Amino acid sequence: MSAVTQEPRIPLPSESLVSAELSIDFKEAVRAQTDIVSLVGETVRLSAARGGREFVGLCPFHDDHNPSMRVYPGQQTFRCWVCNTGGDCFTFVMESEHVEFREALEILAQRAKIPIPQRSGRPQESSGQDKAKLLEAVLWAQGLFENSLRNDEAAAPARHYLAERGFTPETIAQFRLGFHPNDWSWMVDRARGRFTPQQLTAAGLTKQREDGPGHFDYFVNRVMFPIHNERGQPVGFGGRVLPGDTSGFGKYFNSTENAVFHKSRLVYALNHARDAIKETETAVVMEGYTDCMSSHQAGIRNVVATLGTALTEMQVTTIKRFARKVVLVYDGDKAGIEASEKAVSRFLAQDVDLRILTLPEGQDPAEFLDAHRQTVCRKLIHRAPEAFDFCVRCVSA
Ligand SMILES: [Zn+2]
Repeated sequence: MSAVTQEPRIPLPSESLVSAELSIDFKEAVRAQTDIVSLVGETVRLSAARGGREFVGLCPFHDDHNPSMRVYPGQQTFRCWVCNTGGDCFTFVMESEHVEFREALEILAQRAKIPIPQRSGRPQESSGQDKAKLLEAVLWAQGLFENSLRNDEAAAPARHYLAERGFTPETIAQFRLGFHPNDWSWMVDRARGRFTPQQLTAAGLTKQREDGPGHFDYFVNRVMFPIHNERGQPVGFGGRVLPGDTSGFGKYFNSTENAVFHKSRLVYALNHARDAIKETETAVVMEGYTDCMSSHQAGIRNVVATLGTALTEMQVTTIKRFARKVVLVYDGDKAGIEASEKAVSRFLAQDVDLRILTLPEGQDPAEFLDAHRQTVCRKLIHRAPEAFDFCVRCVSA
């Protein structure tokens, strides 16, 4: 993934530009507020070595099977001894997020809650492609949606729907659910003076009209499920129609792919599940956002979900960094069995203990959780057959 080089890193042109624009003080303040062990630990399962003087984990920059990545808290640096990727906190973000120095600095400043000084002498971003600005727009939208779900009269049917599904206010708050009212310019109107229409569109929140000038909101009259990256920043949304909606658009759809939202790489609820996955060394993967939320609410917290598509290799690679064992949960209906067969054939080659849990026919994971007490459910997940056995059973059935 990253260029293999033995030479010391030469500062990128963008880096010297930044030094001129954003002061060295700012850069050093961000560095001082960033602990490299916790930063790397957000995306890699690290274990202490040499009495805590080093931490080791699977390198995210090459296909690593033996932990080759070392993190040195003393020097606040990291290095992979196989692909030779290494450096400080800024290098780590540049390499893992595929961004240039300035964006890495802004990402870490946001993470450390240090206000970013206004950039001067830099041409105004007009393309809206600036990642930090996109992240800011998505975060702003998340707050707007949340506020609407809580307070708007128009959101009453959405609140009713979520209560019917059995979600407590705590779960709704934890997953930052929201609502977009039935108004095609609701977001466009509220963004004035804050974000340009181009920025909102680049962030997957609005679309440009095809029949004339102007933009319209992408999600309308939907319950909004924010999707967070591994750092817990919202990067996109899934929108679900309310029961009885006859608008004819899909029941669920996600933000369009953009500079911060990569459907095939993101894993829903990983930010909430990460600690439990590390603890149990097991990740349970479900197909729906609401099923995943129900599991968390029921106290089974090592559960994540795919983004409405079959599990991708990149998602498995991400999950594998925290879990030794991955349990895929599928519905017991025909579509579910077909989906699990596909996943199995694709991932038998991956170096991961993959298990399949097929639910009794006609039961979705939420019903399954209702029907079984938590402990029984945990045991079933624990005893889920190995993917290979499942293959054999399907073939011989
Ligand atoms: Zn490596």
